[in-house]
Amino acid sequence: MTSERVLVLGGGLAGVACALQLADEGVPVTLVDRNDYHQFQPLLYQVASSQLPAEDIARPHRTIFKETEGVEVVTERVAAADLAGRMLTLADGRRLEGSHLVMAAGSRPNFFHVPGAAEHTFPLYSVADAERLRLHLQGLLQGALDGTAAPEPGALDVVVVGGGPTGVETTGALSELMRALHATGRLAEPGRITLVDRGDALLGPFSDKAHGYAHDRLTKVGADIRLGVGVAAVHADRVDLDDGTSLPTRTVVWGGGESGAAVAEGAGPTLGRGGRIDVLPDLSIPDHPGTYAVGDVANIPGGPDGAVLPQLGSVAQQSGAWAARNVVHDLRGEPTEPFVYKDKGIMAMIGRNAAVAEVGKHRHEMEGPLAFAAWLGVHAMLLSGVHSKTDAFLTWAWDYFDRDHAAVVEATTSPERLAWADHGDDIPHISLDRTAARDAGNPATP
Ligand SMILES: Cc1cc2nc3c(=O)[nH]c(=O)nc-3n(C[C@H](O)[C@H](O)[C@H](O)COP(=O)(O)OP(=O)(O)OC[C@H]3O[C@@H](n4cnc5c(N)ncnc54)[C@H](O)[C@@H]3O)c2cc1C
Repeated sequence: MTSERVLVLGGGLAGVACALQLADEGVPVTLVDRNDYHQFQPLLYQVASSQLPAEDIARPHRTIFKETEGVEVVTERVAAADLAGRMLTLADGRRLEGSHLVMAAGSRPNFFHVPGAAEHTFPLYSVADAERLRLHLQGLLQGALDGTAAPEPGALDVVVVGGGPTGVETTGALSELMRALHATGRLAEPGRITLVDRGDALLGPFSDKAHGYAHDRLTKVGADIRLGVGVAAVHADRVDLDDGTSLPTRTVVWGGGESGAAVAEGAGPTLGRGGRIDVLPDLSIPDHPGTYAVGDVANIPGGPDGAVLPQLGSVAQQSGAWAARNVVHDLRGEPTEPFVYKDKGIMAMIGRNAAVAEVGKHRHEMEGPLAFAAWLGVHAMLLSGVHSKTDAFLTWAWDYFDRDHAAVVEATTSPERLAWADHGDDIPHISLDRTAARDAGNPATP
């Protein structure tokens, strides 16, 4: 249809949906990502708690686009984006220029200047983050399981910062892991999982009923919930809370907030709330013709009472595809269309047999297996953008939800795999190199 080329920065849910839609319309695309794979963030806590291997939630971009004509994938970190010139400067010095530029670079952890948080916590925003946390916990647990490590106060205790879905899911999974290991008789003293949040309820945007349900379920699996208290400082061996108390721990998981990707800084526009790019209703970036921002890196209008839409997979996927359609309108000289979000609701897993969901226009509330079914439907749809065999995900997920089998944390074995049936060459290159992670705009990586 055209000899134009669209640059897409980021191969997450938003960038992949955008590139696939553009390719469908016959528009050539260059998609740039620092990783050679797409990562599925909703299942990061499963990797961290040894329920799934990291490769199962990281799918190589070359595999995703194998049968799609017109998508060129470049695996390199973008050092700078210039929205005025619709240009990307790569870390290796190359420069890419496009007729259009779509920013889909996602987010990064925000430590809110808490002393020691950047140095001593484990954020949970990428597959590499999840794998680092898993290996750290495995190291601690291995010594306790085989009796080689002398018990120290707090050695296995974990503090999770943040009572949103990430913090709740991680607390649930780690509490269940500790209980399951304890039940085998090999772990004399299971680690205590403490969730800390400044607010007065878990899962803030959900209903009061869901707040209570999440609190009860986590308490039932042994978690300690501390609400109305913030983290004052993080040290290598403890967390200081702002009520004057301290919790001894070597493992602090940071789910305490996020901001727009580092690459958005200096790209041109003054950033809005949360370090994100404010966009117009059609997802274009004001005063920068030919540019769009989608997914987590963007403040997208359309939420209730004038708020922006939340950082959710379905917002990312839908906005990515919508921006692609508006690029096509641009190329044809047609007017662009304001983004219409099809709200899938909000949902969170709290553990095996425990989930909450609020779906539909009137936020119909659900708990337990029904809520899990809603979660599954929405997440299978998200995954369908990157996997053709979502039935493997459905089988694995029901098995996880239903059955009570302990996770594998032994260094010599690996957790049960998702039966994706990918080709043997379809392996992502997951680097745990901390310098690389820091360079990629995550200064916090311990
Ligand atoms: C722990 C966790 C759990 C979540 N659970 C859920 C859930 O259950 N349900 C739900 O709907 N949503 C969930 N979310 C939110 C959802 O995952 C995000 O909204 C969605 O993935 C955002 O997609 P995106 O494409 O905008 O960004 P991302 O998926 O983050 O993709 C951004 C891409 O840009 C690349 N990139 C960034 N900077 C550069 C650079 N400088 N150079 C090159 N490449 C770069 C990154 O490598 C990445 O691949 C969760 C998020 C987290 C962190």
